[in-house]
Amino acid sequence: MRVDIISIFPDMFTSPLSYGLLKRAREAGVVNISVHDLRAFTHDKHRTVDDYPFGGGPGMVMKPEPVFEAVEALRRPESHVVLLSPQGRLFTQAVAQEMASIENLILLCGRYEGVDERVALQVVDEELSIGDYVISGGEVAALVLMEAVVRLLPGVLGSPLSLEEDSLGWGLLEYPQYTRPAEFRGLDVPQVLLSGDHAQVRLWRREQALERTYKRRPDLLESAPLTADDRQFLKKLEGAVTLPAREE
Ligand code: SAM
Repeated sequence: MRVDIISIFPDMFTSPLSYGLLKRAREAGVVNISVHDLRAFTHDKHRTVDDYPFGGGPGMVMKPEPVFEAVEALRRPESHVVLLSPQGRLFTQAVAQEMASIENLILLCGRYEGVDERVALQVVDEELSIGDYVISGGEVAALVLMEAVVRLLPGVLGSPLSLEEDSLGWGLLEYPQYTRPAEFRGLDVPQVLLSGDHAQVRLWRREQALERTYKRRPDLLESAPLTADDRQFLKKLEGAVTLPAREE
């Protein structure tokens, strides 16, 4: 996968791309990430990327010319151009999975009050939002997207199993995890995890994942792939577990 990021603050990416999984994936050649300074696509002395909004109002708007030029310079036939925006389609694990099969992602990071609408109309294939809140720039959103997508690329994680078991990987929240020591400040690790009985461990984990999802994110159960055993277990939970009050 090739990722081209366009930003007015390219240095913001230096540290996050130099640690952990993103660093390893880049070193292994699984992903090639290039960060491009939007100001390199300006032609005036001050390298201007923003201007006042037509019609008045607070703040500045990112000018269309440098963004068009940057995307035109980087775009390939296989490119998918994404504008990070709070107005976009919600970025979820399922969307991350979709993105993982794209050969070239071009990520456009907004700043100020956003980007001139003609960018969204002409050069962007889709807008993606990382959640229903507004942050001050698209850089952190682009990093969230890359953190989620790159770990899905073949060969990045040691065990592909951990992807399936991750929260949301199998449509449910993940079961609770424990490590040594087996007893800590009076809190014991559940006995089944120390038993060496792999079938029982699998069953316990599945039931814990179902119970957690039922208590914390019951909405996920509507689309999770559930077996007949899962459904039976959930039926037993109904009534036995008090769900947190839903926000209206
Ligand atoms: N005035 C804009 C609006 O209401 O839609 C928000 C502009 S925001 C302050 C500046 C930039 O941050 C946006 O252009 C976008 O690139 C990025 N951004 C803010 N919130 C985001 C979110 N939830 N998801 C993705 N990008 C976001």
